[in-house]
Amino acid sequence: MTHFAVTARDGAARAGVLRTAHGELRTPVFMPVGTKATVKSLDPEELTRLGAQIVLGNAYHLHFRPGDALVAELGGLHGFMGWEKPILTDSGGFQVFSLRDTILAVDDDGVTFRNVYDGAAARFTPELAAEIQRNLGSDIAMCFDQVPPAGITRGQLEEAVRRTIDWARRQRDAPRAPGQLRFGITQGGVDPELRRRSTDEIGELDFDGNAIGGLAIGEDRDAMFAATDEAAAQMPDDKPRYFMGIGDVEGILEVIEAGVDMFDCVLPTRTARTGSAMTWTGRLNLRNARYARDPGPLDETCDCPACTRFTRAYLRHLVNQSELLGHRLLTLHNLRFVLELTRGAREAIECGEFASYKRNALDRITKWEP
Ligand SMILES: [Zn+2]
Repeated sequence: MTHFAVTARDGAARAGVLRTAHGELRTPVFMPVGTKATVKSLDPEELTRLGAQIVLGNAYHLHFRPGDALVAELGGLHGFMGWEKPILTDSGGFQVFSLRDTILAVDDDGVTFRNVYDGAAARFTPELAAEIQRNLGSDIAMCFDQVPPAGITRGQLEEAVRRTIDWARRQRDAPRAPGQLRFGITQGGVDPELRRRSTDEIGELDFDGNAIGGLAIGEDRDAMFAATDEAAAQMPDDKPRYFMGIGDVEGILEVIEAGVDMFDCVLPTRTARTGSAMTWTGRLNLRNARYARDPGPLDETCDCPACTRFTRAYLRHLVNQSELLGHRLLTLHNLRFVLELTRGAREAIECGEFASYKRNALDRITKWEP
C-alpha cells in the first residue's frame, strides 16, 4: 500500500488519505503554521480539539533557534513541542529568498545570507536543508527551492526554475528521518511554459508529493488560479499536491477545486492577532465601534470557545486592550473556521456536491471590513 490514496473525486477536486509516520491525514487538509515549533499562543491539545490534523514547522527558524541538533538531541520536534500528530517542515527556501535584503550571494551550490536573529552570515544548501529536516524528524520534509519574487524578468524566473530542479535532484536521495516523506516543489510563477517545465521535471523525480511554490506572493489573482489549475492537472495523480501559502476562503475553495490536497497559511493566525475574525458572514474587524454593545456571539454557527462562551462586546474589549486572551480566542476561532471550511469541502467532494458547496460558501461570505 502506498502512502497516498484518492478516495473520492468530484470534477478535478479530490478527497484522499495520506499516511505518515505519525498517523493518517484526511485530505483536503488545512495545515496551521507553527513556524517556531508553536502555533502562536495555542496549546497542542487545543489544536487537536479544533480538528487540526497536522502542523507546519520551519527549517530556517528552528535551525537558528533553538538549533535542529538540539531538537534532535531531545528526541525530535514532536516530543519537543508536545505534538504527536504529523508535522510538515518547510525547507527555509521561502524564508531565505523572501528576506531579500539579507541575501549575500546566490550560486548553483546554495545561498549565503545574514540570519534574522543576530545578523551572522550563514549558508543554506539543499543538502543542509535536508539534514536540518532529518534532525527535526518531521513526517514530511520539503525540498529547498529558490523562490523568486513576483515581477522579476523571465530570465531570472527561468534561472530559479533551473536551480530549483537541480537542487531537487540533489535532495532526492539525501538521508531522511525514519519514515519521513519528501515533497518536491515547483516554481515558474504564472509563466505557463516555465511552470510546465518545472512541474514536468519535478514530477519525474518521483517525490512522495509535489508542491506548487512561488505563487500567492503578489501576482494577479486570476493568473494565479489559472496557473494552479494547469499545474495541478499536470502533477502526478497518485501523489498528494500541496499549494504553499493560501488561507482565505475563496483561495482555499479555488485550489481544492483545482485538485490540490494540502495547503497552509499564516492568514488565520496572523489576522487574529490584528483583531480580525473570519466568519460565515465575512471578515469582522472587532475594533469597529459597532461591536461595543453587541451581546451576540462572534459567529452563530461556530462551536469554538470564543463563540460559545463570549460576546462580541467582550472580544472587542480584549482586542482593543491588546489582551493576550483576545489574541488567543480569535486564533482559536479563525483556525476552527478554516478547518471546518476544509472539512466541509472534503465531505462535499465525497457526496459529489463540491460545486454547490463552493457557491454557497462564497455567497454567504459577502461582508468585508478591512
Ligand atoms: Zn468560533
